[in-house]
Amino acid sequence: MVKAEDIIRIALNVGFHACGVSQAKRLDYLESVYFNWLHNQYHATMGYMERNVDLRLDPTKLVPGAKSVISVLLSYNTGDVPVNIHSPRIARYACRVDYHSLMKQMLWEMLSRMRKSYGEITGRAFVDSAPVMEREWAVRAGLGWIGKNSNLINRSLGSYVFIGGLIVDIEIEPTIHMERNGCGTCTRCMDACPSKAIVAPGTVDARKCISYLTIESKQVIDDDGVSNLKGWCFGCDICQEVCPWNSKAVKVDGVGQKTHVFNGVTAAELANLSESEFNRKFGNTPLVRAGYEKIMRAINLISREKG
Ligand code: SF4
Ligand code: SF4
Repeated sequence: MVKAEDIIRIALNVGFHACGVSQAKRLDYLESVYFNWLHNQYHATMGYMERNVDLRLDPTKLVPGAKSVISVLLSYNTGDVPVNIHSPRIARYACRVDYHSLMKQMLWEMLSRMRKSYGEITGRAFVDSAPVMEREWAVRAGLGWIGKNSNLINRSLGSYVFIGGLIVDIEIEPTIHMERNGCGTCTRCMDACPSKAIVAPGTVDARKCISYLTIESKQVIDDDGVSNLKGWCFGCDICQEVCPWNSKAVKVDGVGQKTHVFNGVTAAELANLSESEFNRKFGNTPLVRAGYEKIMRAINLISREKG
């Protein structure tokens, strides 16, 4: 059996900030929780969450013969993106190149180094792309716990982390140390959420969440809806900003290529960007997920409300 410490060393050498390993098996204990969550419509219009539930619960269905799930974290708590406290605000993860392609490249590099050491390996990388419960696997691998704000919280890195991993068909010693839940009696995130979207510890109702409304929702934001955005035009970091684990989280060196950020750009300047200028400046960032029209509409409504 491959030693976990050797895999962790490869992950850290590739540039990840943390890594852990779990045995690949069906997450039976999550089935009822997940169906309950769907039943309550907390996934709003994200219909893809209803599909491939069995694949979501069972990594051995995604990779036949899978033996291990390797989880990795990449912190984006770099300090190279100044936090913009003035609206229109953007979630800090979106103020840089899209992390999906960066993480995928790093994961493939990891797999290639593993193949050099251990021979042929069948594996699949996941970064928010395959139907995989990344946070659950990260918890099982001992990389943190699910906070009341529903984010994975790592004791040293906090929650400003991207999560990904590899499902592979080789047996790796699991990192069996499970992290104790560090939320304790704290309820800061639940208290601070302006839309009361955290309906129970660890459960977010996407229908109320600003992050969903500004990114995933296809619903057109109207004059009434803009007050719910609280100045955010893409994503929302409030429930992470108030978390004490993020105040003491270690800062890391840059993540990938730096890119233009909204900070220091006024709402008026943003509102004046043409679609081609927007795409030129932000085409390689997560902002394109919401798209020009949706972001501009939010900015214009926010500016009007402020004015
Ligand atoms: S992202 Fe914002 S709206 Fe969504 S749960 Fe957190 S604080 Fe609430
Ligand atoms: S703010 Fe408090 S309750 Fe919320 S995730 Fe952080 S530690 Fe947990």
